[in-house]
Amino acid sequence: ADPFLSVRDLYVRFSTEDGIVKAVDGLSFDLERGKTLGIVGESGSGKSVTNLSVLGLHNPQSTEIRGEIVLDGQELTGAPEKTLEGLRGNKMAMIFQDPLTALSPYYTVGRQIAEPFIKHTGVSRREGRLRAIEMLTKVGIPQPKLRVDDYPHQFSGGMRQRAMIAMALICNPSLLIADEPTTALDVTVQAQILDLLKDLQQEFGSAIIFITHDLGVIANMADDILVMYGGRAIERGSVKEILTTPQHPYTWGLLSSMPRLSSDIDVPLHPIPGTPPSLLNPPSGCPFHPRCAFTDKVDGNRCSGERPALPAGRSAACHLTAEQKQSIFIESIQPR
Ligand code: SF4
Ligand code: MG
Repeated sequence: ADPFLSVRDLYVRFSTEDGIVKAVDGLSFDLERGKTLGIVGESGSGKSVTNLSVLGLHNPQSTEIRGEIVLDGQELTGAPEKTLEGLRGNKMAMIFQDPLTALSPYYTVGRQIAEPFIKHTGVSRREGRLRAIEMLTKVGIPQPKLRVDDYPHQFSGGMRQRAMIAMALICNPSLLIADEPTTALDVTVQAQILDLLKDLQQEFGSAIIFITHDLGVIANMADDILVMYGGRAIERGSVKEILTTPQHPYTWGLLSSMPRLSSDIDVPLHPIPGTPPSLLNPPSGCPFHPRCAFTDKVDGNRCSGERPALPAGRSAACHLTAEQKQSIFIESIQPR
């Protein structure tokens, strides 16, 4: 059967004053119904841009998109704005990092939560408000019948994020895109929001794309992980595969810079040296080669000269041998 969401050879480019930004450079992935895909990468890796393209929220004036985005059999690339508008907030919805930029200070929380429901189902404002109360209850806002008439500034940060989730789920979307939804929250609230999202996913059956720079955040959340670097996917696998047997030197760096992987292995804390690649003038060959500590293990100048491909299935886009991909990181971990 065809996957629920299929992205094939996606290229996204913007024109800027400084030149053409190659934000996404040949990206392919699939997402099954009801599953969670974590897209992990540093800022500028193309992860947010990819998802804005799925939602059709890019600026058509300055953005060039090539490739295929097919949602439940429907082609989204090049679809008329009217089609996308009918899907956004309805069949596909988004939770943003900062609810304050997504919620208007001038309208009550309840009115904003109800808005997509009223728009897509045509119910009355009264019915919309009742549905908003129901959704506030589901996301764990106490006294929802009173709080529905509050303004966003009367909510705490965690409650605003819950309200955003209520708004995103009100039309029962089959695809939910969450872009760093807990980054602005403290650790305790973050954990609560992740639990909530997981529970609601069970209830609503939505597929989720969870975008994050922090592998730890999605360790308990995602089924599969796609690691992005410099606008490209560089590794893909199940959560377990990525966390326990990562194959790409960049993923090794991400894991090593995570505070604590699990209780039985002790990975030293190493931030990855260097900076993310320029998307105006991307490096030749492997985009990670200026930062990679393993180029001398690859024959010739292949790392700087030849772009490694990312084959389908469990794989890493790297010229190291299959043996090296499997052994180097594992051997570097000292068992406790
Ligand atoms: Fe490092 Fe070369 Fe692999 Fe790129 S292809 S990650 S530079 S070893
Ligand atoms: Mg981003």
